[in-house]
Amino acid sequence: MPELPEVETVVRGLRPLWVGRRIARVVQRRPDLRFPFPNNFSKRLEGEGVVGLGRRAKYMLADLSSGEVLLMHLGMSGSFRVVHGSDESGPGKFHHVRSKLSAHDHVVFHMSNGAIVTFNDPRRFGYMKLIRRDDLNQDPMIEALGPEPLGNAFDGAMLAAACHGKKTSLKAALSDQKVVAGLGNIYVCEALHRAHLSPKRQASTIALKSGAPRPSANALAGSIKTVLNDAIHAGGSSLRDHRQTDGDLGYFQHSFRVYDRAGEKCPTPKCKGKIKRIVQGTRSTFFCPVCQK
Ligand SMILES: [Zn+2]
Repeated sequence: MPELPEVETVVRGLRPLWVGRRIARVVQRRPDLRFPFPNNFSKRLEGEGVVGLGRRAKYMLADLSSGEVLLMHLGMSGSFRVVHGSDESGPGKFHHVRSKLSAHDHVVFHMSNGAIVTFNDPRRFGYMKLIRRDDLNQDPMIEALGPEPLGNAFDGAMLAAACHGKKTSLKAALSDQKVVAGLGNIYVCEALHRAHLSPKRQASTIALKSGAPRPSANALAGSIKTVLNDAIHAGGSSLRDHRQTDGDLGYFQHSFRVYDRAGEKCPTPKCKGKIKRIVQGTRSTFFCPVCQK
C-alpha cells in the first residue's frame, strides 16, 4: 500500500506537469473505483487550470481554477504514469509495462502541455472526489485528520497533548489518524525504533501529568519526521509495484531498520537485541525488545 512518503513523491513528481497547466481532456473508463466518480467528473475537470497540487495525509489535493479541489487517494495499488513529449513513443520497457496493465488504466488526464497522466489501479481501492475548496476542511475525510507529521506545527508538545491520558499502546496511538495523520504501519514501527520506545508502552507515558511533553515525546516527534523525510528522500518505500510518476519502472527502494526484519540483528549501535514481530490490533509490529523501552 502506498504510504505517506510515496504519496509525497507522487505529488512532487506530478507538480511540474500539473501546476500552472490546464486539464485539456479527461478520459474516464469506469463509473467507479472504490466509490463512484463524482457526477459529470470529466466535464467538471476539462478546461480547468491546476492552481496548486498538495498533500494532506495520504490524500493528493489538486486545486482547480473552478474553485473545486480534486481529491485523489491511491488506495492499495493506485499509481500514476506519465507520458510527456518524446517519451510517448518511448523506450521499450515503458511501453511494455503500459500495455501489460492497460486494463487497469481507469482515468487519463491530457494536460495542456501535452503530458498524459494515467491513473492505474488494479485493485480499485483508490478514489477521486471533487470538493469545493471552501468546504474541504469540513469534508468527512479531511475533517477527521489530526496534525500533519511533516507540518511545522507538529512537535513533541503536540504529540504529548494528543497522547495525554491515552490508555492505548503507543503503537495504536500513532496509528490513530487523529493523533497524527497518514502515518502507516511501516513508519510507526520505524519511528518507534529510532526513538528507542517500545510499541507496547502506554501512550500516555510520553506526557507529564500536565500534558506537557516528556523528552520521549520530543524524541518521537523528531523520529517521525526523520523516518518520513528519509523515505521521501529515498523516493518512497512501498513494497510493491508503486511506480514513480516519471514513468520509471523501478520499485521504490528503501531499507527499513525493523519493518519485516524479524529475527535479524537490531541495527542500533551496540545493541545485542534481535528484531521481534508481534501482532497489535490486527497489524504486525516489528521492534527490538532490548533497546526499545
Ligand atoms: Zn535494539
